[in-house]
Amino acid sequence: EDEDEDDEEDEEDEDDEDEHPVFTAKEAAGAFTALFRFVWPHITRYPKWLAIVVFGLLAETAFNVAFPLSLKYLIDDVLTGDSEHAYRTLIIILATLGSLGIVVSIITIWYEYYDSVLMSSVMADIRAKLFEHLQYLSAGFYSRTKIGTITSRFGSDMTTVDDALRHMVTWGVLPFLELLAGIGLMFYLNWQLASLALLLIPITLIGPRLLSGRAVDASYQERKAAAGLVAVVQENVSAQNVVKAFSLRRISKGWFHDRNMIEREQAIRSRFYNALVERSVTISVLMLHLVVFGVGAYLTYNEDITLGTFVTFESVFWELSYNIGHVTQFVPVAISGSGATKHINDLLDEPARGQDPETAAEVPRIQREITFRDVEFSYGGEQKQIEALNMTIPAGSRIAVVGPSGSGKSTVLNLLLRLYDPTGGTIRIDDTDIVKAKRDSLRAQMAVVFQENLLFDISIRENIRLGNPGATDEEVVKAAKAAEIHRFIRSLPQGYDTVVGERGNMMSGGQRQRVAIARAIIRNPAILLLDEATSALDHGTEQAINKTLMKVAEGRTMITVTHRLHSVTDMDKIFVLEKGRLVESGTHAELMKMKGVYAHLFKRAG
Ligand code: ADP
Repeated sequence: EDEDEDDEEDEEDEDDEDEHPVFTAKEAAGAFTALFRFVWPHITRYPKWLAIVVFGLLAETAFNVAFPLSLKYLIDDVLTGDSEHAYRTLIIILATLGSLGIVVSIITIWYEYYDSVLMSSVMADIRAKLFEHLQYLSAGFYSRTKIGTITSRFGSDMTTVDDALRHMVTWGVLPFLELLAGIGLMFYLNWQLASLALLLIPITLIGPRLLSGRAVDASYQERKAAAGLVAVVQENVSAQNVVKAFSLRRISKGWFHDRNMIEREQAIRSRFYNALVERSVTISVLMLHLVVFGVGAYLTYNEDITLGTFVTFESVFWELSYNIGHVTQFVPVAISGSGATKHINDLLDEPARGQDPETAAEVPRIQREITFRDVEFSYGGEQKQIEALNMTIPAGSRIAVVGPSGSGKSTVLNLLLRLYDPTGGTIRIDDTDIVKAKRDSLRAQMAVVFQENLLFDISIRENIRLGNPGATDEEVVKAAKAAEIHRFIRSLPQGYDTVVGERGNMMSGGQRQRVAIARAIIRNPAILLLDEATSALDHGTEQAINKTLMKVAEGRTMITVTHRLHSVTDMDKIFVLEKGRLVESGTHAELMKMKGVYAHLFKRAG
């Protein structure tokens, strides 16, 4: 758990770097493109909904242009025009606007509903794709990747993307369309004045350009200070015993105060610079507006443009600066969204383990033996974790693989299960080289009990049935009886229907292990693999479960991997590994007589 939390922090650091309060035009464009690329393949799967959204957006934009335009006719033709047609024109304009307004309002509600449906479907599809992908990633990937890293792809990254998509239409696409339409309208009204107003765009960028370096730096420093502050609190909270025992309250407070003041200083800088960036935009808009206002008024006075044109122009100019504001507010959201898409894409780009080739053989149920021939394996890097390993395991025998921790015992099981493939040599079941076989057909005749066996958050019955999804309820009970856990399950108030998630801590380690054994038995495996299956249990429970396992192993090949030597004394054969090499093999008695590695380990274990 601790590890996960650490990781969560790493993640946040990573995210913070993506999240600039201010940004360059290039970053903004990059973010929009990344978001767009991310959702496009999924959006196009729903052409009908997409069409509705696009139609709705265009209709809304058109109306938002028509509204100020009608102002021009209202002023020029009705309010200041000749009075003969004025009344009729007034009625026409108002009626048209009124009915269009009602229709467009309905359209907007309609398309917003489909926008919600579309985007939520897209997110659900992406989540499904990601989860599916996870099922095909190799054991190697899982051993080098922290759980927290993966879960935060589903958690914080998905939320960030979702946030961006949620605002994309209202803060991004619509204002952008209106910006384009507004510019068009201004040129239609008067191109000289429009050219002047267009200076708005470069001018609003000046302030951020001058100040953004400092603002970004200030935000960065502030986050660093905040992280320092959290670290002090974390240390203090986790060391409360020490703080109390040594009366360190005053000293701790001093440390906290120093950090708190640093955080305060940095927060002032960061807040102020960021406010300044925003203020610089409003100030430049205001300045330009004064110019446009002055020139417009002058042109109107000279009757170069009509009063209606002037007033309409003014209102479009206002719209324009609002829309620029919307888009600039959306950009940081889009930038963090695109950062999150990058994280998600990295995970999706993680190569999935290849499917079995067409030619892969079915592995027939074992008849004679499992053989390891000159098997070599490395997890990567120089060091080989398995070297020149030769073993023959006769079908139906009970075998132990022992050795000090790190000697490669679990790796042997990993190879047999094909979680990894050997880098040299071959492993055969009878005549079939397992590397050339279908993985599922290989695993179908095996069952594993690990040291820690996760029970899923479903009933005990279903947990057992996971070993063989086709099994009947009777078979579940039979497996539980063989694992000697039936009586315990019956004693629970809800019996086999007890949901493990709720009752998990009601079960002891030994009981959970027995459920896992039942899950293995119900597969009716030809080969039963035990990976330190009883090592975490107390001595008494270990002995009891080992006795059960010996019974269960009747008529099967059993390979147990353990460092607990007293649990393997009556095995048919014991293989002793050291640093990835087979150093001794034989029965307990034979190995003791050799007075070698095994005898030494056994004596030391007492
Ligand atoms: P044992 O089961 O005997 O304790 P293992 O088979 O787990 O030993 O490990 C053998 C060696 O391989 C150890 O040095 C271990 O550090 C290394 N190892 C185990 N799993 C991995 C892995 N997923 N990636 C890299 N190295 C590993």
